[in-house]
Formats: sequence, structure tokens, C-alpha cells
Amino acid sequence: MVKPKTEEEIELLRENAVIVSRTLAEVGKAVAPGVTTSELNRVAETFIRDNGAIPSFLGFEGFPSAICASVNDVVVHGFPSDYVLKEGDIVSVDIGTLYKGWNGDSAYTFPVGEVDAETRKLLDVTKASLYKGIEVAVAGNRTGDIGHAVQTYVESFGFSAVRELEGHGIGRQMHESPGVPNYGKQGRGAKLVDGMTICIEPMINAGTKGVYLAKNGWAVHTADHRKSAHYELTVVVRRGKAELLSTFDFIEKDGTIGI
Ligand code: MG
Ligand code: MG
Repeated sequence: MVKPKTEEEIELLRENAVIVSRTLAEVGKAVAPGVTTSELNRVAETFIRDNGAIPSFLGFEGFPSAICASVNDVVVHGFPSDYVLKEGDIVSVDIGTLYKGWNGDSAYTFPVGEVDAETRKLLDVTKASLYKGIEVAVAGNRTGDIGHAVQTYVESFGFSAVRELEGHGIGRQMHESPGVPNYGKQGRGAKLVDGMTICIEPMINAGTKGVYLAKNGWAVHTADHRKSAHYELTVVVRRGKAELLSTFDFIEKDGTIGI
């Protein structure tokens, strides 16, 4: 049984979620052809530390950087590197923070310059599938309802949901129970209760759902080397409608809310 968070704990998670959301927006401003993914990492780490938080991915099970920067066929867990982004690429940026003993975790896939129509569709559908999952992340439902909503939506466009990786609860630990898969059956899985804080994070492939792990033991690639997109938000399960803690508004609406 997963213990729901208190309102005080949820406020601390919200502070984290705002830092992560604003960090993603800072990284987004830096994404352009000619920029290395190491530079994106530098932008993120500087912003996180300037806001009094700690980049929680750095050193997590040996991960070498503050962010995951996963380009094109890399689904998740890409190492920032001297790879130079080029027009038409996509880069999925996943960021975690630790602030006042609590965790933040969100991700966004950025297009680099102009991308082709199929790639744009993959980004739009993946992000929309996240909101489809959030719609059913309400008390009384189960994790399978979220997975089912994501899976059926993306498959209706011919895309596929990765099976090997999933969303998760979040709190004092970055990854808590329950697991939140991006596929599944309605009415199955862990029960969602009011005050549960979870990260929903569809990882959606343009082609086949299959993936493999790179030799470095971290980067997850699509088996067919077609592109993959990843969007992640942190929400509080509530009765009737989930409450967003992190947001893409700072990226998409030039947000004006301060920390
Ligand atoms: Mg994440
Ligand atoms: Mg996560």
C-alpha cells in the first residue's frame, strides 16, 4: 500500500516541480543546431544550483551528468556529450532535482530547428498521450487505466509504447511505488489514491516498440533506430481530476510564475 503524501509534503514536491519545469525551459532556450548536448547539461546544472537545488541524476547509480540528453533513436538515459545537434534532430531532456530533501523529475522532447512532419507528429502525439494518462490519474482508478489510455492513444497513430521503462511514484525517493507503465489494461495495477504523487512519462517510438541497451549500460535505443519521444510530468492524484505539479508552461507559454 502506497502512503499518500500530506499537503505539506505536496507543497515541497511542488517547489521542486517548479524548479525542474523552469530548468527544462532554460535548456529549451539553448537547444539549437550547432549546440552540443554537454552544453545543455551545463545550462541545466548551473540553473539548478543557482536555485539552491541539487541535480539528483548526477551520480545516481553512477550516472555521469545532471541531465539525460537522448537524441533521435535514444529513448532515454542518453549521456550528454560532444555530439553537436543538427537541424531535424530531436533531443529528449530528462531532469531531476533534489530540494529540501524532496525530488523533482520531468522530461520534454525538443525539436532542433525544423523537423519533418512525421517527427512533429511523434512529438505532438507523445505529449498528448501524457495528458491522456493524466486525465485518468484520479483516485479510484488504477495504474493500468493510465497505461491503457497512453497505449491506445499512441497506437491509434501507428506509434508504439516502450514496455521496459515506466513512470513511478515520487517523494523523498526519486523512484517510489507504484510503477506507472505506458501500456496495460483498464482496471488492473495499483490503485490510485488521493494524495499519491506520481510521474507519468510516456516513452513512445515512431516504429517498433522494441528497445536495446547500449554498451555503456545506460542509453536505451529503439531496436529499429527510428526516433523516440519522451514527455514527463509530476502530478498529484486527486478525486475527480489530477493536479499538475510540474508544467510545460515555462517552455510553451513563456511562463511568468516565479519560484
Ligand atoms: Mg525523468
Ligand atoms: Mg521519471
